[in-house]
This record gives sequence, C-alpha cells and structure tokens, in this order.
Amino acid sequence: MSTIKPLVAGNWKMNGLRAALAELKAIDEGFTDAMRDKVDLAVCPPATLLSDAVASTQAGRIRIGGQDCHTHEKGAHTGDVSAWMIRDCGADCVIVGHSERRADHGESSETVHAKAVAARAAGLTAIICVGESEAERDAGHTLAVVGDQVAASVPDAADPSGTIIAYEPVWAIGTGRTPTTDDVAEVHAMIRQRLESRFGADGSAIRILYGGSVKPANAAELMGVAHVNGALVGGASLKATDFLGIASAYL
Ligand code: PEP
Repeated sequence: MSTIKPLVAGNWKMNGLRAALAELKAIDEGFTDAMRDKVDLAVCPPATLLSDAVASTQAGRIRIGGQDCHTHEKGAHTGDVSAWMIRDCGADCVIVGHSERRADHGESSETVHAKAVAARAAGLTAIICVGESEAERDAGHTLAVVGDQVAASVPDAADPSGTIIAYEPVWAIGTGRTPTTDDVAEVHAMIRQRLESRFGADGSAIRILYGGSVKPANAAELMGVAHVNGALVGGASLKATDFLGIASAYL
C-alpha cells in the first residue's frame, strides 16, 4: 500500500471564461473533509483566470496551477507567461510538457526540463507530462520513449514536494480510449524504477499521475493500479460533478 497521498489535478486547457469560476466554486464546496483526508485536488485554469481562481476558492483547500510557463523569469517574450507570474497570482503548481504543448509548439524534453527548472525556481511544483504517441505504442517503443522523456525532462533537483510526473499516452487524451490496467502498470513501474535509481528515497515518494480519458466510471480501476498516485484530468475536470466523482474513487 502506497503512503503517497494521491492528487487529482484538472487541466482546463483553453476552456473557461469568468462564468466558469462557478464550477470551480462548486468543486471547492463539494471537496468534503472526508475527501480532503484521502486525496489532494488541483485545478489548472487558463492563465486569464488564475488570480480569480485563487480568490474564489478557500485558502489551502484546492491547489491552483498554470498550464505552462516560459523558461525565463521575464523579458522580451510577447504573449508568454513566466512561472514567477503564475506564482504571483497565488498559484502553487504548473503543468509543463503537456503533449499539446509538445505537439503544437514543438517543445522538446530539453525545453520541458528548462520550464520545470524555472517552475521550481519560482516556488511552483512542476507537473511534468510524458507519454507516447499511438504510432510509438504500435511500434513497441512505449517504454523507451517514455523513459527517455522522463530522463530528459525531469531536472536533477527533483524532489517529492516540487515535482510530479504525469504519464499521459497521447492517443488516450480526449479520445475516450484508455490503456489496459496492465499497460498502465507497466509504464508506471518503469517510471518509478527510473525515479528511484536516479533520486533514491525521493524517487519513491514522487507522485506519478495517470492521464488520458479518466472519467468517474473508470477512475477507481485506473487509480487502483500500482504506482498510480492520482490523475491528470482534462475534459472531465470542467464539470464539478465529474471531477469530484473521479476524486471519490479514493473514498
Ligand atoms: C489532459 O488534457 O491532460 C487529459 C488527460 O485530457 P482528457 O482527460 O480529456 O483525456
């Protein structure tokens, strides 16, 4: 039985106007003491809502995070948001290396590594995403691809409070398809082994989340897999009932 407290983190992606804060408040209010005992919750809204998200939730209950950050603290990078700006909004974590960033913005694992370093320097927990494409899985390269991403994306100074890994098979994101529990177990065990061989006891305590079409209906099964320490949730995090339904897998 793992002693790691699980985390269910929601990634709202490019969804949510100010009216969506009502849904966040519903998540906050529905996050009962019984749930808080068993699981941590985080919501990563668009950058435009970060300050309001912090202000509209009760302090210290739900973690609020960004979805991406720049590698630098400040400067001539039009349109970008730095980890320090995210921290300044009152957020305490940030997703880096989501597959949509890797694909849409050509982010390499080296870039993701630099973003994770920036996040830590700004005092944020870095949620570092890794995952194989469908073609890579079909070719039997999943463990090699994900292992390489972990090696190159996770900074040397990684520690359990400041670093979270999210394994998200690209082909399972937003598709309604999920890997088998055996497939999830295989990848999570490999990631755990890599973390332990690099970071020793700290590597045993770093959370490894599963992400990709997690819903209330499949959460208990997926969250029950060895070395799955929570979930990164896209679509189902936009509705309080669905998101809390996933967290309820831990009750
Ligand atoms: C994600 O965007 O990280 C994700 C896992 O999305 P979904 O839950 O919608 O598959």
